[in-house]
Formats: sequence, C-alpha cells, structure tokens
Amino acid sequence: MPYLPAEIPLPQPTVDDAPFWEACKRQELVIQRCKNCGTFRHMPMPVCYNCQSFDFEWAKVSGEGTVYSYANVTYPTHPALKDRVPFNIVVVELPDAGNVRMTSNVVDTPFEELYIGMPVEVVFEEVTEQITLPRFKRAQT
Ligand SMILES: [Zn+2]
Repeated sequence: MPYLPAEIPLPQPTVDDAPFWEACKRQELVIQRCKNCGTFRHMPMPVCYNCQSFDFEWAKVSGEGTVYSYANVTYPTHPALKDRVPFNIVVVELPDAGNVRMTSNVVDTPFEELYIGMPVEVVFEEVTEQITLPRFKRAQT
C-alpha cells in the first residue's frame, strides 16, 4: 500500500520532468544538472537558473538525504484523504545533488519521531502503472 491513496491527484509528466518519473519507475533517483556550470536543479525545468544554459543531463544520485522541514497534515484537503489523516509532509535535502530539496513523505516514522536533520533514504512506491513516487524512510545507520 502506498503511503497516501492512489486516488489523490498524481503527477502528470511533462516534457521537462518525464525523465525524472521514468527513472523513478526504474527505482532510480535522478536530478537534473546543468552541463555548462554543474548546478543541480529540482523541479526539472528547461533552463539553468544560474547560467541560463539549456544544456543539461540527468545525474543519478544516492537518494540519501536529511529532513530539512516537516509538517503534520491533520485536515483532509482531498476526499480520498478523509480516512488517511494525519500524515506527514517532509522537505528532504539531498547533499549529493547540490542540496536541492524535494517535497515528499517519510513512510515509516511516527510524526513525533521526525526531526530536522534526520537522515533518510529514498524508497520508491509504485502508485499506479504510470507513476512511481519517491518517498523516504529512516536511514539505516
Ligand atoms: Zn548552469
């Protein structure tokens, strides 16, 4: 069972982020990196915000990160979440991807045990045939 129900609105891949979602299906976390200046960026976009280059590559990263921020969601903002609250939303920082931040969830940890700086690692949840979401679990250290 995915952390959140598959009935909530899911990503609709675009030309810019389709490779990210394809990598998730392969259980790989990739982050866009400018081929001109090396700056990582997330969410995917066509132009580097640092040097305005259109040239980029997809860098496979470890999926190890730390919790930058987190919140406990207690109000169901979508009907499919009516019986699923409370749940957490986290912002995870990825040190091997230039500290880009990714919004996700920590799937295995009660809210009271989450903390800023907590080490986490990516897990992939196949929500539908088309969409696999990167979520996180407590790092095994
Ligand atoms: Zn650049």
